[in-house]
Amino acid sequence: VASAALERDLGSVLPPESIVLEGTAAYLGDETEGRGLHGRADAVVLPGSADEVAHVLAWCYEHDVPLVPRGGGTGFAGGAVPLDGGVVVGLERLAGIRAFEPLLWRICVEAGMTTATVRRLARENGLLFPPDPGAAEQSQIGGNIATNAGGPHTFKYGTTGSWVTGLEVVVPPGEIVSVGGSIRKDVAGYDLKSLVVGSEGTLGIVTAAWLRLIPAPEATFPVAAFYAATHEGCAAIERVLGNGLVAAALEYLDRTTLKAAGSSFPAAVPSEAAFVVIAEADGSRSEADGLRDDLLDVLADGAVAVHAPTEPSTIAELWRWREGVSIAVTAQRGGKVSEDIVVPLDRLGEAIEETLAIGARHGLPACSFGHAGDGNLHSTFLVAPDDEDALAEAALAAEELFALAVRLGGSISGEHGVGWVKRGQLARQWGPRALELHAEIKRAFDPKGLLNPGKKLATHEAARI
Ligand SMILES: Cc1cc2nc3c(=O)[nH]c(=O)nc-3n(C[C@H](O)[C@H](O)[C@H](O)COP(=O)(O)OP(=O)(O)OC[C@H]3O[C@@H](n4cnc5c(N)ncnc54)[C@H](O)[C@@H]3O)c2cc1C
Repeated sequence: VASAALERDLGSVLPPESIVLEGTAAYLGDETEGRGLHGRADAVVLPGSADEVAHVLAWCYEHDVPLVPRGGGTGFAGGAVPLDGGVVVGLERLAGIRAFEPLLWRICVEAGMTTATVRRLARENGLLFPPDPGAAEQSQIGGNIATNAGGPHTFKYGTTGSWVTGLEVVVPPGEIVSVGGSIRKDVAGYDLKSLVVGSEGTLGIVTAAWLRLIPAPEATFPVAAFYAATHEGCAAIERVLGNGLVAAALEYLDRTTLKAAGSSFPAAVPSEAAFVVIAEADGSRSEADGLRDDLLDVLADGAVAVHAPTEPSTIAELWRWREGVSIAVTAQRGGKVSEDIVVPLDRLGEAIEETLAIGARHGLPACSFGHAGDGNLHSTFLVAPDDEDALAEAALAAEELFALAVRLGGSISGEHGVGWVKRGQLARQWGPRALELHAEIKRAFDPKGLLNPGKKLATHEAARI
């Protein structure tokens, strides 16, 4: 419920069209609604320019009002959810192109442009913006930068941050700061740009970004291989690396995931299939052809079936199916607690089996799928969003997952960030001085702690303050 007094006061720094008076409920949640997280805001604003963002931040800083930056609301960590009131700053109206120079492989866009639009603009000009997080039609480039989003093609091309050469950010107490730009190299100062990348709206509000593009590969050929057991699939994944094959993507789905999503797979799924690996070859036509043959060789070894489409429509069908996997998994019970732990590649099989064991210990159906080549699992516990007991068990199960990730030499988060749901968990994997530096960086940017309070906190002590 918005506060009328606050909305009136914001009217002194923003034009009326930038203040949302009706339909504010759409700005209070993200993908964590499926695990019962709902927000409450005192006002929702949609600034139409970076200056307006600066005015809102300055006003909030002056009046000690918290702000929650918001992109497309597709996050899995509750980062965009206003948990304790304050002003939600949605970036959707800030969606223009500042500059586009296809012949120089670069574009500067405003933060609210959707990921799909950035990728389409690149594609229409023979270029590729490689980051491909799965909710591209809804997520925004600002949200992708704030979470340093990955996706299937991160294996070859890296996360969103690898493609950002410059940022415009509004920082407390309400100033617009620019770092980097259209340049491809810059080691002149501390890497403030990379600090903001992945900072989940806790250091500043991204208003625009310079992005690097590359010529689009001429051809892409996916290969999906089914195995009868997890260890056979994991061995195949390691063989891809061991044979020096630079796949563009290297994904996996376990048995339960396959059960949830298999009926819409664009080819027959063998009944004995318990694991699927999807790899993709890309490059010039001849490179992609050669790599596809090599992937087929390496992946067919021990597989019970292989599906390797070559037509653009059937290739698109396979990736569309992969994009729908998360939704098919959610549909099993209406909600899910899905984490994004990372482990060293050689521990992937162990983490997949252990996810099932953790679920069983808590009486929850569990599954995992994700970005195998990056050792990044979406370890998932299925819950009904209104089942308080199951949600409480899932929270305990998630704690065990984080402990597992750290024990295996990995990380509590490879994609979704810490947000609200993983607050305090970083203390599992960093030492005291590193945690102190983490807190000092936050204080340097946001001395009053008004930017996205409660989010990305490294320790439980910080969470209690
Ligand atoms: C079906 C599905 C598939 C997905 N697949 C992937 C995947 O493959 N890889 C992956 O990494 N993620 C994936 N995600 C998660 C999600 O899409 C990403 O985290 C995405 O980057 C979030 O962007 P958003 O614009 O929706 O941000 P939001 O959810 O609105 O916000 C996320 C965080 O960023 C902050 N933020 C947003 N915009 C700004 C800004 N302009 N300035 C400062 N802070 C800001 C918010 O405060 C919040 O902390 C998936 C989600 C869904 C629903």
